[in-house]
Amino acid sequence: MDCVFCKIVKGEIPCYKIYEDDDVLAMLDIAADVEGHTLVLPKVHAADINECDAQTYQKVMLASKKIVDHFLKLGYDGANVVVNCKRAAGQEVPHLHVHVFPRKDNDGVKIKVEHPQNKLNLEDIAKKLRLN
Ligand code: AMP
Repeated sequence: MDCVFCKIVKGEIPCYKIYEDDDVLAMLDIAADVEGHTLVLPKVHAADINECDAQTYQKVMLASKKIVDHFLKLGYDGANVVVNCKRAAGQEVPHLHVHVFPRKDNDGVKIKVEHPQNKLNLEDIAKKLRLN
């Protein structure tokens, strides 16, 4: 399969590895934007959160928690944990991954969803979206 993250898992493309176990790899994001911006991904290929099985997702999320806990122990003050699902949501690499952004107080980083239409009727939306 022509998947860049599968190639990284197989060692065919180098990465800056932060953590690895039997099921998960965590590496620095090549964007080199926020200090410590890390991607946590399953070693098996799954396109996204929608297309992966629950066990794989659980492993990736537990590893993400491990990374967050580790970063806080190292002295960071917080972290953002972000998963993009499909192109409409900005996912560029179709191999499931969790972004972990370590944060410092007043570091100036902004991770925020913005949309001009921000006065929505929450009652209608809750009715439309409720999952029973
Ligand atoms: P997303 O938009 O959620 O799919 O994020 C994909 C991320 O993967 C981006 O932040 C890229 O900078 C990052 N990325 C792409 N190729 C590589 C690579 N070879 N090694 C590390 N990070 C990568």
